Amino acid sequence: MLRDGALIEKVAVRAYTIPTDSPEADGTIAWDRTTIVIVEVEAGGERGLGYTYASAAAAQVVRDVLAPTILHQDVFAIPKLWKAMIAIVRNMGLRGVCANAISAVDTALWDCKARLLNVPLARLFGMARDSVAVYGSGGFTTYSDERLATQLHDWVHEDGCRWVKMKIGTERQRDPQRMRIAREAIGDNAHLISDGNGAFDLKTALAMADQAADCGVVWFEEPVTSDELEGLCFLKNRVAAGMQIAAGEYGYDPFYFKRMMDADAVDVIQADATRCLGYSGFLEAATLADAYPMPLSAHCAPALHLPVCCAAPRFKHIEWFYDHARIEKMFFDGAPEIRHGEIAPDLSRPGHGLTLKRADAERFAL
Ligand SMILES: [Mg+2]
Repeated sequence: MLRDGALIEKVAVRAYTIPTDSPEADGTIAWDRTTIVIVEVEAGGERGLGYTYASAAAAQVVRDVLAPTILHQDVFAIPKLWKAMIAIVRNMGLRGVCANAISAVDTALWDCKARLLNVPLARLFGMARDSVAVYGSGGFTTYSDERLATQLHDWVHEDGCRWVKMKIGTERQRDPQRMRIAREAIGDNAHLISDGNGAFDLKTALAMADQAADCGVVWFEEPVTSDELEGLCFLKNRVAAGMQIAAGEYGYDPFYFKRMMDADAVDVIQADATRCLGYSGFLEAATLADAYPMPLSAHCAPALHLPVCCAAPRFKHIEWFYDHARIEKMFFDGAPEIRHGEIAPDLSRPGHGLTLKRADAERFAL
């Protein structure tokens, strides 16, 4: 018998803050904790789970604005609910906290729908591949040279990652030496990525790109602020032939990705489903990337990205961000583990396969 939909009975939201295991920084900010906002949607006897790494203010947007908008609506009608959530935050400003909040709800809706259908989300989206490559990402500028080397070494030599990423831009005089240390630690069979997080001005970025190329860096992320599209375009056309320019992690809607692509600003577009309006927004970004054509890479939240990245038509890799991989393992049963540099969905579990370890999470609740 065909199901004719299921009405949303409950939308619950909670924010949790988890201290990092040591101080962390990139080229523009420093932090010692991470906040995750978790949304649960109940419909038809199933519960879908979504989340975003964002300010706890996103929880208030879910509770006060989004939940009343989608309650008692059909959980299967995700495009309709997605449009309604985008419309209702118009006067608050979509980009930023509201987009984070919508992302968490959209993800929970997709998970709930898949659970009601008793299928894995990767299968519901439609699989273009069975597993997805990940790159180890950390190398914070607060790390000692020893920790930098060990972290990147282990991702390559123990987990089989073919790329690893480090942060640069806090102490620019030290960056060339840090990149040489990283290169030595990973050996010749893995690729090095440097992320400036927009710390450099154009001329400094150009000089740093030359030094990065000498260390075999194949991808220079946000060498200048990603709002400076002309600057990114200039660098893309000037850096060494083997080096790609990447950006896109602050994309909160499909228009952002289109503008970045139209400006010829990047070789690889990055998108983050916990910011860009959930799985629905990520699929739009993936379609744009495929049409352009341009490779797409997922920013952070590896466990959440896994099913949708199995479906993205033109896909490169998921960022195995140190903090998020750590939190996802602490918080969720079913969080993926890296095998031979890749992660794969567990097709015996419905939805995205993640369930909240409530007792373990509770001590971090705000
Ligand atoms: Mg980045």
